[in-house]
Amino acid sequence: MSRWSIFVAAKMPDYVERDIAAAFDATFNTTGEKLTTDQVLKGLEGKDALFGNVGIKMDADFFARLPSSVKAVGTYSVGYDHVDLAAAKAKGMPVFNTPDVLTDTVAECAMLLTLSVARRITESVALMQNWKGWTPLQLNGMELVGKTMGIFGFGRVGRAIAERGRGFRMQIAYSDLNKLPPDLEQGAAYYPKPEDLMANCDVFILACNSTPETRGFLNRERLAKMKPTAIVVNIARGDIVNDDALIEALAQNRIMGAGLDVFNNEPNYDPRYRSLPNAFILPHIGSSTVEARRGMGRILIEGLLAAKDGKPARNRLA
Ligand code: NAP
Repeated sequence: MSRWSIFVAAKMPDYVERDIAAAFDATFNTTGEKLTTDQVLKGLEGKDALFGNVGIKMDADFFARLPSSVKAVGTYSVGYDHVDLAAAKAKGMPVFNTPDVLTDTVAECAMLLTLSVARRITESVALMQNWKGWTPLQLNGMELVGKTMGIFGFGRVGRAIAERGRGFRMQIAYSDLNKLPPDLEQGAAYYPKPEDLMANCDVFILACNSTPETRGFLNRERLAKMKPTAIVVNIARGDIVNDDALIEALAQNRIMGAGLDVFNNEPNYDPRYRSLPNAFILPHIGSSTVEARRGMGRILIEGLLAAKDGKPARNRLA
């Protein structure tokens, strides 16, 4: 069967572009410019598939306007809150994402966020600009040993974070839509109500999907249930957090701090986070390692090749 022609919407690392070029006749984004929906749809004219990403809103209108040549779309992410799967299914359009291959990298980033807040890294980095020397009072943080890590969303990433938490000798607890079987729980305590988990943990980590149910989840009322010494970590999606509520809690020291990799309205995140000494913020680098980026490319290629050959794929969403 002949090769598919695909449109790659974002500039990819060289090693990913090489893998794509080996499998498809690819048109690459060579400038690195972030494309508008219209530009993506234009680029797809005459192409068999899209190698897309989180920056492209694939809503019902997008699927309605897809050129008739397009037979499959992929998103270079595991999260698919930007993709209207119902619209894709209604159109019979296969959609692929990048599960598993980024899980460890993202879990490592969650630990980075946790440790950075626990050890007051934002303040430490600032202090290095004008450091007067060691004192016993300087930036006393929180040790993780024996503390409870509460994970909201005990899926692939959530469980990989738990694995690392155990390595730090933390107690693991979680909340999810359902209690998991013992082989997946690995001794973690299940809280059917996330509010109870929040009241009983020291590090609360958001690792769920962004869905209509989880959007705005971390609000004023729920934050009020947390211990004043607790840390919030968001490795999932920005829209799970109500920024006004979290910023108020941080500014008033009603929690110890927050480590955030993702934000509402990226890249125009709420600038108040920048001036909070107890906020440690990152520019959505959760899956940004060479290993994960390469794996994400390969699994997406695998899915699109399966679509071409009419075969099943482990990363097919619709
Ligand atoms: P996953 O395996 O699907 O895990 C998500 C978990 O959240 C599932 O166990 C799911 O339960 C649970 N969940 C969904 N809705 C819930 C609710 N209302 N209440 C409680 N739990 C709920 O996905 P993953 O691979 O771990 O990835 C998780 C999310 O992380 C992705 O959706 C993505 O948005 C985010 N992410 C961020 C980065 C980054 O760069 N920062 C990188 C990768 C992923 P069910 O299975 O029962 O639905």
